[in-house]
Amino acid sequence: MVAVKSVEKFAMECETEHFLMAQRQLDEIAGEMGLDPELHERLRYPKRSLIVTIPVRMDDGRVKSFTGYRVHHDVTLGPAKGGIRYHPDVNLGEVAGLAMLMTWKCALMGLPYGGAKGGVRCEPWKLSAGELERMTRRYTSEIINLIGPDKDIPAPDMYTNEQTMAWIMDTYSINVGHTVPSVVTGKPVSIGGSYGRQEATGRGVAYCARRAAAHQNLAAQSPKVVIQGFGNVGSVAAKLLHESGYKVVAVSDVYGGIYNENGLDISRLLAYVSEMGRVQDFAAARNISNEELLTLPCDILIPAALGNQIHKGNVDQLECKIIVEGANGPTGPEADQILFDRGVLVVPDILANAGGVIVSYFEWVQGLMHFFWTEEEVNHRLEEIMGKACDQVFAMASKTGLRTRMAALRIGISRLAEAKRLRGLYP
Ligand code: NAD
Repeated sequence: MVAVKSVEKFAMECETEHFLMAQRQLDEIAGEMGLDPELHERLRYPKRSLIVTIPVRMDDGRVKSFTGYRVHHDVTLGPAKGGIRYHPDVNLGEVAGLAMLMTWKCALMGLPYGGAKGGVRCEPWKLSAGELERMTRRYTSEIINLIGPDKDIPAPDMYTNEQTMAWIMDTYSINVGHTVPSVVTGKPVSIGGSYGRQEATGRGVAYCARRAAAHQNLAAQSPKVVIQGFGNVGSVAAKLLHESGYKVVAVSDVYGGIYNENGLDISRLLAYVSEMGRVQDFAAARNISNEELLTLPCDILIPAALGNQIHKGNVDQLECKIIVEGANGPTGPEADQILFDRGVLVVPDILANAGGVIVSYFEWVQGLMHFFWTEEEVNHRLEEIMGKACDQVFAMASKTGLRTRMAALRIGISRLAEAKRLRGLYP
């Protein structure tokens, strides 16, 4: 039977470049794996999207309206899961594209979740703490019918944090009349957060880097590591890899980078950054630009800052053997193919940065059970899931000859397709 094209109207609304890129990736792997055309059609668009207007009383007494979104891409495997971001670029297409990636990521990691994303279009750095709190609470009440521990569990993303999650949890709880910690993850530990959540993404990135180094027979030679972005993800990955005997030779932040070919002292660098707020001018290192950083000779390059950093324009200058994608979407599609042709192993974002959503899952489970684990238990279970997924992706890539990104998507999408096939199409 031919799939019915019934969603053109919605498609026009969300078809931004960002969304189309996510959709093209699905189309490519669907063709490659011979995905049932009906299932393919159902997965090309989000299941539901909500756009809300959020009136906020500003500190100067005026009322300003912001636009917010919450999108569920798919909920076949369980409640929807995905972050909330505050940024001026937030729009329906971006949120829908990111929700789709969350579906693949959760399915690949074997988590009982569907994919979601949300956001508010705003300049969070221009808002006071009071304005941010009022905006967050009103946004929560506008999307309250979509969220809940059995329906959709938000988490932090760009420019949202533990405090944002605490406000969402409180607003939701007050509205339903009792405390519901499991409506969000990424909460402070004092109100039901999980040990290890803060470090989880960086820990998962470091774990994937070690696994990839072993896979490429580089682990025994104290591999050289370059990291773009020294925030939550990059700094934790740097610390853990340094502790494992890897040589972190360069790191950077928004102001620029530093390089020492003999390796940086990461403990001293962390203390320096917490005092100075940047990595540059650190003793025993040379200042470099972010562009130069990407092209340094190294074994492992970890982009852990922004999307679209490795592209047609700079991919030929890269000298790494492995790329571990801490950030979401740091490698463009053309660059991905060129790296593959050159034999560079890419650990794709949906695998490499999944540590955060895995420990979010642990936080949700602990909250539902009212039984909390130690940090050692959390880290051990995290490494178990990451290790299994790395092995599956590397095995699928070598079995099929696919790029690792496509191999990862194929595993996630196959699981989801099987579940969708068994559940059938209602009515
Ligand atoms: P963060 O805000 O803590 O850190 C970002 C770092 O990148 C900072 O050091 C910042 O100075 C640097 N940076 C910003 N612009 C830059 C530029 N133009 N060049 C070089 N460096 C720049 O953010 P984070 O939580 O570490 O997230 C980093 C990336 O990882 C993001 O792409 C995010 O979407 C992704 N990610 C994060 C998580 C998580 O749990 N934190 C989970 C999945 C994916």
